[in-house]
Amino acid sequence: MLTRNESELRSRSATMDTEALRYAAARELEQAHLWRPYASRESQLSDDAPVFVRGEGPWLFTQRGERLFDGFGSWWVSALGHQHPRLIAALKTQAETLAHAAFAGALNAPALRLTEALVRAAPPGLSRVFFSDNGSTAVEVALKMAFQYFRQNGNPERQRFLALSGAFHGDTVGAMSVGDIPEFNALFEGLLFPVTRPVEADWEAVAEQAVDHIRAQGHELAGVIVEPMVQGASGMRFWSAAALRAVAEATREAGAWLIADEVFTGFGRTGPMWACEHAGVVPDLLCSSKGLTGGVLPFAATLANERLFEGFDGGLERAFMHGHTYHGNPLGAAVATEVLAVFEEDCILDKAAPKAVQLAEAFAALGAHPRVRGARTLGMLGAFEVDGVAGYRARGAANLAAEARKHGLWLRPLGNTVYLTPPLNVPDDDLAWALHQLKTSLESLG
Ligand SMILES: *Cc1c(COP(=O)(O)O)cnc(C)c1O
Repeated sequence: MLTRNESELRSRSATMDTEALRYAAARELEQAHLWRPYASRESQLSDDAPVFVRGEGPWLFTQRGERLFDGFGSWWVSALGHQHPRLIAALKTQAETLAHAAFAGALNAPALRLTEALVRAAPPGLSRVFFSDNGSTAVEVALKMAFQYFRQNGNPERQRFLALSGAFHGDTVGAMSVGDIPEFNALFEGLLFPVTRPVEADWEAVAEQAVDHIRAQGHELAGVIVEPMVQGASGMRFWSAAALRAVAEATREAGAWLIADEVFTGFGRTGPMWACEHAGVVPDLLCSSKGLTGGVLPFAATLANERLFEGFDGGLERAFMHGHTYHGNPLGAAVATEVLAVFEEDCILDKAAPKAVQLAEAFAALGAHPRVRGARTLGMLGAFEVDGVAGYRARGAANLAAEARKHGLWLRPLGNTVYLTPPLNVPDDDLAWALHQLKTSLESLG
């Protein structure tokens, strides 16, 4: 007869075998049929991709029982942590009454509630809401609105956009056109529309050049699109409030529309609700997604001011002929409304302020490590480069991410840029733990 210990051991090893088998089966299925985003066939074959089965607050749990701190908020969506009970409850309640009804010549109650809440939370004057379902479409909508406005309001020659070097605005063709990450875009150049872009130099020079271009080409510009304060995907590149203000002022003087892509920076990621607030800038168009539904559902909104909206007055031939099948989806709208309610009722921004200080202090200390360069934070975002080299195909940070995973921290570096974007409501202890693990991982790299 087996002793209790022996039988426990046996059943545990049987469980482990089952887990290993399940993992092997998952990877086999992947190899046979999946096409992963931003992954080479080679990496798809060789990496040790976790299979997530559960989330809770800042944590993700894998099929093999690993508990990982979600250091990048699942691509920056997880503003309130995974499985926030109020968001899940809002989703369930809405799913039980109306999951979807087309916005075609019709409305739905959740989308109306969200419209009201979103206009209240938006920068002043952004009082028109156009829904879509992801960050790229929110950007496409803004570009098309800016373009069409001038086509039908006496300035059809205004067809050009100015975008910043290093920008990322999404992976659809219009969003790629205003984007500037060669690893994503270079191949598709023939497909993209021409955009005015300052040549890469230091940030002050970029901003100065942008202002010069705007002044020189103002009469043919439809819009200027920026990621306010921080360019996310190109490596968490911070730029100044003063530069943002200068670009915004030049855009206004030129009579073009200022488009703020707050898909990443919105919902308090950089401190205030919208990153534009750092500079006291109010854009004409604002793109929101990611934090908008807190990582529960794909959803997006493009906000516009009344002056722009009025340019579409008149018959159907002047209407904005754009809409997505899931426009104003009740599930997404219900969750987004609840996100805004949680932000307000739980004073998320106020309570995140001391956490941002905790993050800033830890990153300042990490900055002293010989392999760390450019340690910086803004709100609930901390970033640094490993070994000083930035850029998408550099791989220095990959080793750190691999090490971090062993320490329970799930990171997704951008080239050599390592960053942390924890939920705004992350418990202090969990944040301290994650920061400590990051430091330990760095030290064990040597
Ligand atoms: C992620 C992102 C997008 C694209 O959003 P998707 O939902 O991936 O289409 C656009 N702009 C910015 C600034 C982003 O960070």
